[in-house]
Amino acid sequence: MLEKVVIANRGEIALRILRSCRELGIKTVAVFSEVDREQKHVLLADEAVCIGPAVSTGSYLNIPAVISAAEVTDAVAIHPGYGFLAENADFAERVEESGFIFIGPRADTIRLMGSKISAREEMQKFGVPCVPGSSGDVGNDIDEIGRFARELGYPVIIKAAAGGGGRGMRVVRSEANMRNAIAVTRAEAAAAFGDDTLYMEKFLEHPRHIELQILADESGNVIHLGERDCSMQRRHQKVMEEAPAPGITEDMRKKIGDTCVRACKAMGYRGAGTVEFLYEDGEFYFIEMNTRIQVEHPVTEMVTGVDIVKEQLRVAAGEALSYRQQDVRFRGHALECRIQAEDPDTFMPSPGQINRFHQPGGPGIRMETHIYDGYRIPPHYDSMIAKLIAHGETRELALARMSTALSELVIEGIKTNIPVLQRLLDDAAFIAGGTDIHYLENKLGLK
Ligand code: ADP
Repeated sequence: MLEKVVIANRGEIALRILRSCRELGIKTVAVFSEVDREQKHVLLADEAVCIGPAVSTGSYLNIPAVISAAEVTDAVAIHPGYGFLAENADFAERVEESGFIFIGPRADTIRLMGSKISAREEMQKFGVPCVPGSSGDVGNDIDEIGRFARELGYPVIIKAAAGGGGRGMRVVRSEANMRNAIAVTRAEAAAAFGDDTLYMEKFLEHPRHIELQILADESGNVIHLGERDCSMQRRHQKVMEEAPAPGITEDMRKKIGDTCVRACKAMGYRGAGTVEFLYEDGEFYFIEMNTRIQVEHPVTEMVTGVDIVKEQLRVAAGEALSYRQQDVRFRGHALECRIQAEDPDTFMPSPGQINRFHQPGGPGIRMETHIYDGYRIPPHYDSMIAKLIAHGETRELALARMSTALSELVIEGIKTNIPVLQRLLDDAAFIAGGTDIHYLENKLGLK
């Protein structure tokens, strides 16, 4: 097994990785910014190295600083978590060039999947169904773009090939808005991702977001752990997730799962990954692949019993996956709520000091969080502060457990989105299951 791992992240995922390392007897190195000294995982890690100022370009995104931390502590591998450097192919490359193991896919795989255009091409090659769209950059010839959009049929969505985090996308409903949409999205993409390549897809009106969890090792074993439904979104950002996806039958799971496994085998995939689809009228359409652990991985862990982070660590150590496809069993239903430090009405971030924190418990309840009584949430990072996960034999039981847990959860001193999550859990359509990706925004009156 790996001897010592640098956890190149912060917050709940850093703690989550630390726990799996502990179970495997791996020593941990926390790297942290100047405002993150009091993070739970920093206090718990075997070693901790300050890598720079609060601003993440100076610390969590600072490649030389992260690699130096591995050097000075004699670590053997780096786990990037999600966000920050997790899908940065140059980082993965430099980690390996410096003699460390990057806990994730090979740099060329990250690069291939990092562009939504090349990812689509690659997936199509292996028979994975994609949303109809342009095969490369849309160009700047507005007549040509207009003709292509008419062929696809309005509405269409303009997307930055390098986009992520729900940014760099714009829906265009008629030709009149096309010129402006292209110009604005191109400028945004250049500023946010340093790459202004744009492509066009048909905009699906009522899809659900369904994604497949993949695990692969160096010897070419690839398995899937079933799907998650992440349709509850605001501004293309997931709010609540569940596994399995309501209405997806065993046959459908097997069919799309086998297709993804075949594609990942063919591209020599390594580690954990997620193949994301839009699902409409019984059809799956690939949108992108995330080459890292995802925020919502616990719902899959709860229904399969597989520790995905531990499998990542095993694969990085050159070991085989602990499971074959036939060993994977699905049991019950799991839901995850993302708890955000934000105003429930305006969605403005609400950093500050937590002066009272009470964590829920009981059968089937799991909480992933780094916060504690007295912890001060810095304003510099993502506002997700906790994930509350509920598991039960049935979806009804998981929903009931989630409602109870949310009512027990106390976080005082800052504002949180707990009221929004509670409203959602009382919503008849959500309780029935299978609502589309626009449902939450419509319900919140944001559209
Ligand atoms: P990101 O990399 O920023 O997460 P994705 O390509 O995964 O971007 O898309 C994020 C979300 O945007 C999807 O979950 C869905 O809600 C919406 N979306 C993306 N493409 C389409 C499309 N073709 N039609 C309708 N909605 C879309």
